[in-house]
Amino acid sequence: MTFVRQTTRISTNSQRSLVSGGNPRPKTVQDVFHRAIHDLRISVIDRCNFRCTYCMPEEEYARHYQFLKKEEWLSFGEILRVTKLFLEIGVNKVRLTGGEPLLRPDLAELIQELSRFEQIDDLALTTNGSLLAPQAKTLKAAGLQRLTVSLDTLHDEIFRKMSGTRVPVAQVLKGIEEAQRVGFQDIKINVVVQKGINDHTILDLVRFFKGTGHILRFIEYMDVGNCNHWTSEFVVPSSELYRRINEVFPLRLIKPNYHGEVASRYQFEDGGGEIGFISSVTQPFCGSCTRARLSTDGKIYTCLFSGQGTDLRTPLRAGASDQELLAMIKDIWKKRDDRYSENRFLLSSRQEKPLKKVEMFQIGG
Ligand code: SAM
Ligand code: SF4
Ligand code: SF4
Repeated sequence: MTFVRQTTRISTNSQRSLVSGGNPRPKTVQDVFHRAIHDLRISVIDRCNFRCTYCMPEEEYARHYQFLKKEEWLSFGEILRVTKLFLEIGVNKVRLTGGEPLLRPDLAELIQELSRFEQIDDLALTTNGSLLAPQAKTLKAAGLQRLTVSLDTLHDEIFRKMSGTRVPVAQVLKGIEEAQRVGFQDIKINVVVQKGINDHTILDLVRFFKGTGHILRFIEYMDVGNCNHWTSEFVVPSSELYRRINEVFPLRLIKPNYHGEVASRYQFEDGGGEIGFISSVTQPFCGSCTRARLSTDGKIYTCLFSGQGTDLRTPLRAGASDQELLAMIKDIWKKRDDRYSENRFLLSSRQEKPLKKVEMFQIGG
């Protein structure tokens, strides 16, 4: 079997997306390409205890960015208020991210409040795992439903280079183990793959996690932000990773869990569980992109590659009513025409200077 393309492109002829399968829920707002909004990713902090070279490289990020002051962060009350408004227009999945979300003090309190919203079917968090072991139990008890842990390799030296820290791999693995022990199931393990950096270690990850119930997801290295100085030569196409893994551990394509799932899902033929591929560079999925992102300082971004967001914090703090904020949010989504990944190479060939884009650690993955 060959690697199956999961591309969901936007049709340029009709200006209609390939979003199909199911009617939008009644209150759902749709964008210019008829994409409904379903997911809200909330960045709770822009700081991180890692300096991953593909996200926040030590030598670069400071030139591009000053971390926010605490008073600039949305408070939990403000996050809850904004989330509630997003739920009114069709959001049913919420993911907490960062920076490193487990650095945000008292995060479990926010989770507890979010878990009370009936409209949220899926409450998840993405973490680098380094602080997970001591927090896993509290997160679970607060109502967090799902966890994604990022881990790019099992090799300490490569891990250290990629993450820019001295945290050993064992500390992240301990976090994953503890999370499983306290009841998190189907933990996703995100692996950003870079050619010549960690791609030769992916089979070790597969061997290690196969049969554990955790789901490895290989992510193509993306040109998010400016400070990683992305070039396509470091991208390993998912089709190539699939080929390498399938040669050793035969895989079978399985159906997406839901419409718009970003990963192509595969099962090991021998029953060893599931893995996935996220191929934003070689197989863009803009046609089914239903995600909005809320930055730590209260800006709404409608694309991972946006140059700028829309500030909600200022009106929020100036006393805007829920109706006024809701009208703003609806308007942002209705005007949304992002499809960066589909046009990536066209856009970059037209630009003399690189496009200014928001950094990944400001809005989360
Ligand atoms: N700090 C947390 C973590 O690393 O899991 C959450 C925030 S991090 C920005 C979210 C996800 O984005 C991680 O899985 C990370 O590996 C991924 N990521 C960061 N930069 C990336 C890039 N340039 N290309 C692809 N994925 C990237
Ligand atoms: Fe931190 Fe996550 Fe970015 Fe790495 S990918 S620097 S862990 S925010
Ligand atoms: Fe969504 Fe933007 Fe990524 Fe396309 S490029 S899938 S619109 S976040």
